[in-house]
Amino acid sequence: MTGGAGFLGSHLCDHLIGDGNEVICVDNFFTGTKRNIEHLLGNPSFELLRHDVTFPLFVEVDEIYNLACPASPVHYQHDPVQTTKTSVHGAINMLGLAKRLKVKILQASTSEVYGDPAVHPQTEDYWGHVNPIGPRSCYDEGKRCAETLFFDYHRQLGLSIKVARIFNTYGPRMHPADGRVVSNFIVQALKGEPITLYGEGTQTRSFCYVDDLIDGLMRLMDTADEVTGPVNIGNPSEFSMRELADLVIEKVGSSAGTTFAPLPSDDPRQRQPDITLARKLLGWEPRVALSDGLDQTIGYFRELLRAQ
Ligand code: NAD
Ligand code: UDP
Ligand code: UDP
Repeated sequence: MTGGAGFLGSHLCDHLIGDGNEVICVDNFFTGTKRNIEHLLGNPSFELLRHDVTFPLFVEVDEIYNLACPASPVHYQHDPVQTTKTSVHGAINMLGLAKRLKVKILQASTSEVYGDPAVHPQTEDYWGHVNPIGPRSCYDEGKRCAETLFFDYHRQLGLSIKVARIFNTYGPRMHPADGRVVSNFIVQALKGEPITLYGEGTQTRSFCYVDDLIDGLMRLMDTADEVTGPVNIGNPSEFSMRELADLVIEKVGSSAGTTFAPLPSDDPRQRQPDITLARKLLGWEPRVALSDGLDQTIGYFRELLRAQ
């Protein structure tokens, strides 16, 4: 697994090892942290490799999950050239590895391939509405190019590929300072600071709890060779950022309220996955409601802030 020390990757490590697999976790620790995987370090089924996926990697494995890539706007815009390299060179190297070993490979793609969508909710056959030269483009176009590479290795060389389009996911082990909305709101509320709503807070997102997401990814990896995706994996329950802020404030019991900040450029106005295909192909749908998932996530950040 690449990106195994990150938010999603570390949960995937746990679930794969829990199912009796052995995992090589490859990560350069750009946004990941040893804290996310330290409980696995003594486990004989777990091996940690500090490595940047933009360089070739020679290991022997049976399946590849390619998750390496900073996922939050703050981090992927910090070094945009490296972000594109990670998606594109990283995909080429991992596809080269999959080709040499003749193993299946799963790509953690993203709802960002739909950009600021003109179709709502988003179905997999929608081609997207993406700015190729904006501040989000390094991520969006990098991920789109990675999808292209996956499908060309599939068509040209017969590789078994699985492309998951992941929608906003949250849960314990999100980086407290990565700027994503759920972690920002919870950390602000716990610190007694006002919650920062960008724009008017009317833009929407659909939030999937991490355990549901990981279940979807593992089901996709286990499908027959003819299933390539892309498959949307996310929770269709859609909320405005204002609604999310109100819910977090209520749960944390914060009295600091909200404050407004400028809307970042190219910020998608709405986002909701159509998961008809995931239901049909994977027999999957999310089970954890936002309210329950937020309770888990607030508990995690409360402990983290206390320890700090
Ligand atoms: P994250 O930032 O917590 O994890 C990414 C991991 O990749 C980190 O551990 C980081 O150190 C590592 N990494 C970054 N560049 C690397 C490189 N060049 N070489 C090796 N490792 C590198 O983010 P996440 O939320 O866990 O996201 C994991 C994957 O899922 C990403 O590919 C992301 O694009 C995708 N995704 C996530 C979401 C979400 O809501 N969390 C939504 C859509 C897609
Ligand atoms: N690669 C890798 N590990 C492997 C096999 C290949 O990292 O086990 C890299 C390799 O260095 C190359 C890339 O994957 O840059 C693409 O490999 P491919 O075989 O498709 O291309 P080629 O080597 O023919 O350019
Ligand atoms: N957002 C916000 N306040 C914050 C962080 C984010 O209002 O402190 C908004 C942001 O403008 C976007 C939404 O929340 O509309 C989701 O942002 P995030 O960075 O989590 O994910 P993405 O935009 O990549 O979906």
